[in-house]
Amino acid sequence: MFDNLSDKLDKAFHILKGHGKITEVNVADTLKEVRRALLDADVNFKIAKDFTARVKEKAIGQDVLTTLQPGQLLVKLVKDELTELMGGDVAGINLQGTPSVILMSGLQGSGKTTFSGKLANYLQTKKNKKPLLVACDIYRPAAINQLHVVGDQIGVEVYSEPENKNPVEIAQNAIKHAKANGFNIVIVDTAGRLAVDKEMMDEIARVHKAIQPQETLFVVDSMTGQDAVNTAKAFNDILNFDGVILTKLDGDTRGGAALSIKSVVNKPIKFVGTGEKMEAIDVFYPDRMAERILG
Ligand code: GDP
Repeated sequence: MFDNLSDKLDKAFHILKGHGKITEVNVADTLKEVRRALLDADVNFKIAKDFTARVKEKAIGQDVLTTLQPGQLLVKLVKDELTELMGGDVAGINLQGTPSVILMSGLQGSGKTTFSGKLANYLQTKKNKKPLLVACDIYRPAAINQLHVVGDQIGVEVYSEPENKNPVEIAQNAIKHAKANGFNIVIVDTAGRLAVDKEMMDEIARVHKAIQPQETLFVVDSMTGQDAVNTAKAFNDILNFDGVILTKLDGDTRGGAALSIKSVVNKPIKFVGTGEKMEAIDVFYPDRMAERILG
């Protein structure tokens, strides 16, 4: 995960090793390399530039050059800043409602259906909840089947109305069904398109308004880099979602999405997907991720 970024940052800090006395120039060179590493990881230019500017300011504020181990201090400053960039504290999900309704949004192929199953499985096994999965993709019968397969796999009921072409109605009926049958979580999987389009946005906005979910989660493929960030912005403008799910972190992703999304939409990354299996879900801890990146 983010191996390339880790390597590049490691190399950046090499500049500070082997020097008798570290100078302002060495620090500036290191930060330049840090910025380059972020850009290579597909972090956008402004975010990378602001990042190194903040680290520099802190380095000056803490008199890095006069400390005993300036290299280590600079690594710590970068680590703290990476943690902040990815959201600071860990963000939980709101499970207050009866039932608590969670709406999944995102493009087709982002991993929404898979993640809906993972989340249901996580809440059932780790949080002792009784979730209901809801198939609201009215365009692709295969999508409904896929959710049923997932539901069977984890032993979670799936609500669908294959003949109904109104996703608002399906979602509302599903919530009624959940209330009548003792489900305390309702996870609504919606239709995605290959790219952002008005029809899809209107539809999810209507579902969102009708069911007033406790949590609206935006699912995005981390492999798509800056596109992930742009898509997040488009969905957030419409839905004002509560959190981001980054999928496919097990792949060869450079890290740009994880590092940029929070600054662009100001919403936390709540979970990550790290594989195709139902157990491949992790709560996202910005500090642990920063720790991992800096080795
Ligand atoms: P949806 O169209 O948004 O519902 O996306 P799907 O849930 O169908 O996922 C699209 C593809 O990505 C499927 O082949 C999934 O198995 C795969 N996938 C989803 N999440 C992950 C993940 O975290 N890691 C990996 N490697 N593959 C994933």
